[in-house]
Amino acid sequence: MKITMLEPLGVKEEKIMEMAKRFTDAGHEFVFCGEPIKTEEEKAERAKDADVLIIANSPLTSNVINAAENLKMISVGFTGVDHVDLEACEKKGIRVCNAQGYATDSTGEMTVALMLACLRNVVPYDKVVREGGTMHGFQHNTLKGKTIGIVGTGAIGRKVGELTKAFGCRLLGYDVVENQAALDLGIEYKTLEEVFAESDIVTMHAPLLDSTRNLANEKTIGLMKKTGILINCARGPLVDSQALADALNEGRIAKAGIDVYEMEPPIPAEHPLLNAKNVILTPHVAFYSEESLEHRVGIVCDNITAWMDGNPINVKL
Ligand code: NAD
Repeated sequence: MKITMLEPLGVKEEKIMEMAKRFTDAGHEFVFCGEPIKTEEEKAERAKDADVLIIANSPLTSNVINAAENLKMISVGFTGVDHVDLEACEKKGIRVCNAQGYATDSTGEMTVALMLACLRNVVPYDKVVREGGTMHGFQHNTLKGKTIGIVGTGAIGRKVGELTKAFGCRLLGYDVVENQAALDLGIEYKTLEEVFAESDIVTMHAPLLDSTRNLANEKTIGLMKKTGILINCARGPLVDSQALADALNEGRIAKAGIDVYEMEPPIPAEHPLLNAKNVILTPHVAFYSEESLEHRVGIVCDNITAWMDGNPINVKL
């Protein structure tokens, strides 16, 4: 079979080829990709004789899928598969598998990094020192003793629970499904409103669905404590950015740490969060650690092996 990478996976060629040795040793062809492919036409040309495609998070349209006449399987090096035209895949009976869990540790740690950066004034302190200032006029807070409200108690939500529990935090949770592993961790399930009202830090970890769009909105953000902190390392549209910016600018909540937006960065200059007070912004990088990228190449290859063996794993379609 011909296994073709359609975009880079952020790991060096020699490392990827080492992981792909299992395929080449078995007589399959493996086509590495080190540079982003710019046009749809180039993608379609590259995909046209592939049996298996490996992609990351750039859109895979029906044009490319239909051009790949032999295509049977897509191994997506990403958690979400909303960038793949699943309807086109379904019509052609193409199996789609994702890299579920590759970034759980990385995203969980980044979430806690943003919590600590907010609580401990890391970004303003850096500026103060560079401008010749002193500690005076600042005070910061510990994570210990804080109540963390986890919206979406799946893999990443629970990782954040595990990490913040180690700091001595109390854990509240909201989810559409109560999860035994979350209960075992000590997460107390509450309503969405209770989580926003009772937590010192609310952190978003639900997927992007119609039901999760704007879960953090004017009303729920309005329930937060004045000292409250909102963190979003899930998907941008879970938070109403304008409502968050207004709450920050009016001092109705204290701080926010945001990794994701309605669009992939660069975000437009007029975006409300660019002009909001007390918010730390990162360019959708929570998943992007060296360790998680290597882990995802392993999962992407395992998905192909399992599918070839007739026992597909991480199946999304
Ligand atoms: P997961 O599937 O393990 O957990 C998601 C949880 O959200 C589940 O428990 C689910 O029941 C819950 N949920 C679904 N609908 C809900 C609703 N309406 N209200 C509350 N909870 C709801 O997924 P995960 O691995 O924990 O990842 C969570 C999300 O994080 C992903 O969907 C992805 O969008 C995002 N993510 C972001 C980055 C990043 O770099 N910023 C990296 C990885 C994942």
